[in-house]
Amino acid sequence: MHSCYKLMVMLLIVGAVRSPAATEAAAFENISWNPRSINVGAPCLFKVETAAVPSSLKGKWEGRDVVFFSAGQRHLWYGLAGVDVGAIPGKHYLELEATMPDGRVMSAVREIDVRPSIYKVVTLTVPGRFVQPDAETLKRIESDQEIKRKAFSHQTAAPEWSGSFHAPVNSSVSEAFGTRRTFNGKLASIHRGLDYHAKSGTPVLAANAGTVVLARELFYEGNCVIIDHGQQFMTLYMHLSQIQVAEGGKVKEGEQIGLSGATGRATGPHLHVAVHWQGAYLDPAQLWTLSLPDLR
Ligand SMILES: [Zn+2]
Repeated sequence: MHSCYKLMVMLLIVGAVRSPAATEAAAFENISWNPRSINVGAPCLFKVETAAVPSSLKGKWEGRDVVFFSAGQRHLWYGLAGVDVGAIPGKHYLELEATMPDGRVMSAVREIDVRPSIYKVVTLTVPGRFVQPDAETLKRIESDQEIKRKAFSHQTAAPEWSGSFHAPVNSSVSEAFGTRRTFNGKLASIHRGLDYHAKSGTPVLAANAGTVVLARELFYEGNCVIIDHGQQFMTLYMHLSQIQVAEGGKVKEGEQIGLSGATGRATGPHLHVAVHWQGAYLDPAQLWTLSLPDLR
């Protein structure tokens, strides 16, 4: 009687989970991410293995669309994404939707615990015109924002990066990503990039292959280069003394794109590098250590 009862409970459990589990298992064999533990500000790579080959695979993460692409084998899919520096830690959800060739739509959801990051607070002093811009400067800043908005909305069909990203200069970090800054005792901001010690004229190399979507002088950023590595996953290089690439051009990983400097809002020569994914700013230092598959 006792064992019979146990068997009945087991059957009930199996019966209760069978239908949704079977639907998911039919499409998704394995869903994983790298790094295994994701913190605020981290870039990440989602890897999805499917049993049958879907005609498309879409993802939702952090309120943004993750574009999945299959590399080589059609049942292995990758999506490069991240968590914004200003995101709230806690339970975040990766939602997947696979459309099969016969039109059936399979879905799966994974709960991911996004851990907090601890950032330091520093006080910086910059020239007054950067803190309280005059009317003419404000106009310039507004038009810069429109130029950046256009660059950030650049569309690519396929990823252009291949393999891991690399630091653009071989130098030490002068200011970490995520640092909370106060200028002249007011106007707090978050450091949404990583600063490297770099004396003026240091060659700056592309972190990975991609398309140059911006290469011009901006008020705050100074001489700035933005590279789209595909699907709006971008790297930004600021305060350059010289730009050596043109908008619309293609660059290879490690290709020289300019020379470092102190143009724009800079207290001295350094290289500011940022990683931008659909409006989210991610930690460059964590991107350099993220192991990514070779796509060529
Ligand atoms: Zn910086």
